[in-house]
Amino acid sequence: MISIRNVSKHYGHFQVLSDCSLDVAEGEVVVICGPSGSGKSTLITLVNALEPFDSGDIIVEGQSLKSVRNLAAFRSRIGMVFQHFELFPHLSVIDNVTLAQRKVLNRSQAESVERAEQMLERVGLLSQRDKRPAQLSGGQQQRVAIARALALDPVCMLLDEPTSALDPEMVGEVLDVLRDLASGGMTMICVTHEMGFARHVSDRVVFMDQGRIIEDVPTAQFFEQPRSERAQQFLSRLL
Ligand code: ADP
Ligand code: MG
Repeated sequence: MISIRNVSKHYGHFQVLSDCSLDVAEGEVVVICGPSGSGKSTLITLVNALEPFDSGDIIVEGQSLKSVRNLAAFRSRIGMVFQHFELFPHLSVIDNVTLAQRKVLNRSQAESVERAEQMLERVGLLSQRDKRPAQLSGGQQQRVAIARALALDPVCMLLDEPTSALDPEMVGEVLDVLRDLASGGMTMICVTHEMGFARHVSDRVVFMDQGRIIEDVPTAQFFEQPRSERAQQFLSRLL
């Protein structure tokens, strides 16, 4: 589904990613963790073609990012969820979830509302459809952001620390939605430090440090016996 092949990137003199390779199969759930500044956000941002890279290639469903012509259409196939939700504050919940469907997928108003309502139902927020984001809790806002991404019928979801801006009591409701998605077979790459989620939901854990992928192992192995000393140190601080 997603193949990141020997990708490197720098900002000025700073090498943010060095020769990163990662393959994610259909239906797989991969958690990326690692210290702050290790390049996790940059890596998943590249998959959504939000940033150029220097060398290597990224293939999504058989298509190289280098050959993508219609960027908006390509991006709509990858559901992106950010730490700070990034909802449109002036739009109602339902309008947040219909906007890109109409603009990018050219769906009619009726069709986009129907799809939005299905997805809001799925994340348990249909009753909030006419509120503004500011009238919702952080956990609810993040669930709206997930519904918005799902409404575009993505082939995979990329989530960048989806719970790290939330108050602790709201983390669970968002992780529950992600767990449901995973068990429904959604392909996901999730940057998170929620090690309980990683342990119980992910198939593989990728550990990054200083722009490199240091480990890419089945989840059980990561928790039982991480190979690298850096991953061991990282885990010992979190668990
Ligand atoms: P992580 O998500 O693992 O915390 P990031 O991918 O956000 O790491 O950032 C990796 C490094 O790249 C950090 O040191 C950050 O300061 C740097 N960086 C990120 N974006 C930019 C940018 N647009 N310009 C310059 N440096 C950047
Ligand atoms: Mg980050």
